[in-house]
Amino acid sequence: MSKNIFEKIIAHEIAADIVFEDESVLAFRDINPKAPTHVLIVPKKSLARLSDATAGDEKLLGHLLLKAAEVARQMGLNQNGYRLVINNGRDAGESVPQLHCHILGGRGLAWPPG
Ligand code: 5GP
Repeated sequence: MSKNIFEKIIAHEIAADIVFEDESVLAFRDINPKAPTHVLIVPKKSLARLSDATAGDEKLLGHLLLKAAEVARQMGLNQNGYRLVINNGRDAGESVPQLHCHILGGRGLAWPPG
């Protein structure tokens, strides 16, 4: 099966502005930022969306969240705060079928989302 855009970024087949990488996750700046800081953090394992995760992914998902917090700290978002977003499925506006967590910060964020 052909790779989607995030799988190609994970494989370093196409360029991205990478801000963090380890053996199991990759974080890179969103190409169309919705906030002054907008980073996506993705597991390297192929996993279309959160609802496809199983008990075997527990450690990976915990790692993803901890690294999201580390990246947010590294980007200077800790003092004023930030938001993590996972769009799961059509109604949420998911557009790339590889699990990704948005890290948004650098301005006040409205609630509830649209
Ligand atoms: P979703 O709507 O699926 O939750 O989020 C997908 C995000 O991926 C969007 O915010 C979109 O701007 C971003 N995106 C789509 N294609 C690319 C790309 O090729 N490179 C980067 N860095 N971000 C992308």
